[in-house]
Amino acid sequence: MIVAVHKEPSFRESVDLMFNHAVALMRLPPGLEEKIRVCNATYTVRFGVRLRGQIFTFTGYRSVHSEHMEPVKGGIRYATAVNQDEVEALAALMTYKCALVEAPFGGSKGGLCIDPRAWEEHELEQITRRFAYELAKRDLINPSQNVPAPDMGTGEREMAWIADQYKRMNTTDINANACVTGKPANAGGIQGRVEATGRGVQYALREFFRHPEDKAIAGLTGTLDGKTVIVQGLGNVGYHAAKFLSQEDGARIIAVIEHDGGLINPDGLDVDMVSQWIRQHGGISGCPAGEFIADGASLFHMECDILIPAAIEGVINLDNVDGIRAQLIIEAANGPITYGADQVLRKRGTVIIPDLYANAGGVTVSYFEWVKNLSHIRFGRMQRRQEEARHQLLVDELERLDRYLNDAWSLTPHFKEKYLRGADELELVRSGLDDTMRTAYQSMREVWHGRDDVPDLRTAAYIVGISRVASSYRAKGL
Ligand code: GLU
Repeated sequence: MIVAVHKEPSFRESVDLMFNHAVALMRLPPGLEEKIRVCNATYTVRFGVRLRGQIFTFTGYRSVHSEHMEPVKGGIRYATAVNQDEVEALAALMTYKCALVEAPFGGSKGGLCIDPRAWEEHELEQITRRFAYELAKRDLINPSQNVPAPDMGTGEREMAWIADQYKRMNTTDINANACVTGKPANAGGIQGRVEATGRGVQYALREFFRHPEDKAIAGLTGTLDGKTVIVQGLGNVGYHAAKFLSQEDGARIIAVIEHDGGLINPDGLDVDMVSQWIRQHGGISGCPAGEFIADGASLFHMECDILIPAAIEGVINLDNVDGIRAQLIIEAANGPITYGADQVLRKRGTVIIPDLYANAGGVTVSYFEWVKNLSHIRFGRMQRRQEEARHQLLVDELERLDRYLNDAWSLTPHFKEKYLRGADELELVRSGLDDTMRTAYQSMREVWHGRDDVPDLRTAAYIVGISRVASSYRAKGL
């Protein structure tokens, strides 16, 4: 066990300090700063469930950070370490994250103190339904007020139970499906939600690499092709990010850090193989894809181009920050770098692509799912065939030209099939996500490069997010 040497602020204090650092550079009206910073309300519930012949009591939270826009949005986490401080920090991050990527929501977060692996599926269903009941009866699950989503320890399965529980309690609500996002595709979900956060990390990095000036600050050149990457945490987010970066962009995943150790392969790990191994064996140890290192945390100090912490908060802290060698860190998790470590890295010139931007792909696609549920129609259903018919007109003309010109000119192979195919829901979701990640990066970047007093992307991200929250408070009054 690693014993922390430095005493650091709590996660919520860390987020507040980052907030304070940003607002000190803004000119907000007196009092508004404080109004935005504080968490509006946190509801704690303790409920009993009869299981295995006895009653077990569970503690859960739903925190609402800011209601400048409603519904408020944010995941529900299942972990033994869940506590009020953590849920409030995560809810605050949701507020700034949604504002930054222009998802029209306030910030919220929920959590249940539970080890999901300690329970059978039917028991988890009972617990989840009971938790959902407690939240829904207080409008803390509601399509127009509070819309949860998956987070650590939860996924499509839990979201389907929550949606069903809400429907049982609100039998005439025509928009009931929009009460939660991250549902399975066959139960009101949307294509591409499971991969969304990892996909967003990939799009964020691609956008970063489009800007030579930004790459230069991190001492990098070229594209993602051949870049060495270390991923900490191969859960849903880390797995998808690593998979897409290696399989589609040519990046090399040289190490993975997991709870039971690390795995190294300088030629690049087969991410699918590692992930499958973890699912089957509950850990990384023994996986033949690379060399196993028992002291996984030591791999934080390995040399690489890009470090991706993709699990929990506080993993890069004052105890290990000095050994970090990556020049570029992208925070796929929420809060993986403590305030103290952030300051050290900032002084050192390490570029950090911050959580509230880097992992916003999840809530962005959740936004698409919520809109789909409210509109009661799948994206692309109206226009897909019409788009194809119009493309067919052009292809017919080109084919006529092709015949006329004989050997002098011909259509590029596969042009016809590629051009003819109207976009399906998954393509539309990816296109919307890509656009969101590019636009949000550019808005952060403008502040980062446009102001001498903003030395880093995190401060820039907070400034963009907070100023949007402030203008929506200004527009509607408090
Ligand atoms: N739990 C995810 C997050 O931290 C997703 C939230 C959502 O989709 O509402 O951003």
